[in-house]
Amino acid sequence: MGTIAVANPATGATLAEVPLMDAAQVAELHSRARAAQPAWQELGFAARAAVMWRAQRWLLENTQRVIDTVVAETGKTYEDAQLTDFGYSVQALGFWAAHSERYLADERSHYWGNPVLAGKRLVLRRVPLGVVGVIGPWNFPLVNGFGDCIPALMAGNAVILKPSEVTPLSALLMAEMLSACGMPDGVFQVATGDAQTGVALVARVDCVMFTGSTRTGRAVAVAAAERLIPCHLELGGNDAMIVCADADIEKAANAAAYYAMNNSGQVCISVERVYVEAPVYDEFVRRVVEKVRALRQGPPAGPGSVELGAITFPPQFETIDAHVRDALERGARALVGGHGRGSGDGRFYEPTVLVDVDHTMLTMREETFGPVLPIMRVADIDEAVRLANDSDYGLQASVFTRDAPRGERLARRLEVGAVCVNAAQINYFALNLPMGGWKRSGLGTRHGAEGIRKYCHTQSILVSGFGLRRELFMFPYSARVTRLLARLQRTVYGRRARLRG
Ligand code: NAD
Repeated sequence: MGTIAVANPATGATLAEVPLMDAAQVAELHSRARAAQPAWQELGFAARAAVMWRAQRWLLENTQRVIDTVVAETGKTYEDAQLTDFGYSVQALGFWAAHSERYLADERSHYWGNPVLAGKRLVLRRVPLGVVGVIGPWNFPLVNGFGDCIPALMAGNAVILKPSEVTPLSALLMAEMLSACGMPDGVFQVATGDAQTGVALVARVDCVMFTGSTRTGRAVAVAAAERLIPCHLELGGNDAMIVCADADIEKAANAAAYYAMNNSGQVCISVERVYVEAPVYDEFVRRVVEKVRALRQGPPAGPGSVELGAITFPPQFETIDAHVRDALERGARALVGGHGRGSGDGRFYEPTVLVDVDHTMLTMREETFGPVLPIMRVADIDEAVRLANDSDYGLQASVFTRDAPRGERLARRLEVGAVCVNAAQINYFALNLPMGGWKRSGLGTRHGAEGIRKYCHTQSILVSGFGLRRELFMFPYSARVTRLLARLQRTVYGRRARLRG
């Protein structure tokens, strides 16, 4: 068995070695998970929720250790780890502990649209799928890896988490946490390793929840299709921000600077491109440049030390630089930054603001996933909407205007899974609201009712035998009866529709 060295991207220091699990080891984890799952399902919601509440308390009691682990293996700032990885995990444990039972409760109904169903009880129940494989990226090891395990576990599944090879330590810490909080052996396990470990996991589990690049997502979808297992994909994005002429420019400039640069831009829902209406363009750019110039960057050294940390994944640095070089060669100007920056053995990219950009440039069309903010002047909002939608991605977008109802109308014109009006990214914390991409940004959603129902089979049960006197056992189903039923349908529903219209 091999190992993988885990390094701190902000200093280059080696932090640990973790097992590079092969297919046989993944198979072992899977057997253990399969054996442990039925008893976990049998425990019921209250007992499963009790583990999650204890885990939430554990996180609060071990705040420093958790944040330090995330900061060390990602090179992100203390604040980025605290707000997102740590804060989200605390919130998510409580959310799913509180709401899972309601989302997965049996639904009972009757249907009177066909006489053969008169008096029959219709029941919809949800049953855990079995063993769920969660595969995560390196940018938010807790949010996008562990965070997706919580609803899968609450639904009664066993889970094997395959964290990114770059950031496996936080996932291992979560396994330690759940074990200390009473999670039965085998219900939650971590498969450390690389792409091949991920391949081996997809080959075993009953369902895959994948977060990562569009390219890998496609490969995972193909492998899942071969096995006919459900597969949920949360992939890359190239999120647009639209700034209307009537926007609060200070607010919009703050949002652009923060939501493009937080986590060093390594956020799937980062602001990756901005379209500003001509009358406010110069003022917006001036303010953004001022704010971005003031940002401090370097190895994180506790709260308040820097605003930007390191680039976590070595090849990402090359992608960011290639996008910036491509834009500059095609006529863009960097008003701030534009280069990688050495800091000892750490890996940093200067916060960069680009102007004179257009859609021939990679940074406007592909995911840069770094601290780069290209800003484009547009004649009017129609042009902004057209350009925002001119993308293979469809993850999220944001709109800034003082007229909130107009913002909502604009949101409806954008071809993305989520839109924030006068905000960005924070919809991720609305755990009751589905989050997922259109186009090349994904398949399916996390959060909300669907965020847990996707980890279940549905079973429909039709029960005859209640209220026998009202039931029709046999029905003379002739073409005449079909015509009568259709007329009845049109009379009832067609009339309702006409009244509404
Ligand atoms: P990646 O696709 O390179 O890797 C993601 C995970 O997949 C890793 O754990 C990797 O080991 C594993 N993997 C690689 N090949 C595999 C295969 N063939 N089968 C199974 N598993 C395999 O992505 P990354 O570079 O780690 O993450 C960055 C990407 O993630 C960005 O594109 C970002 O936008 C995206 N992301 C999306 C969301 C979202 O919610 N939409 C959230 C965070 C990150």
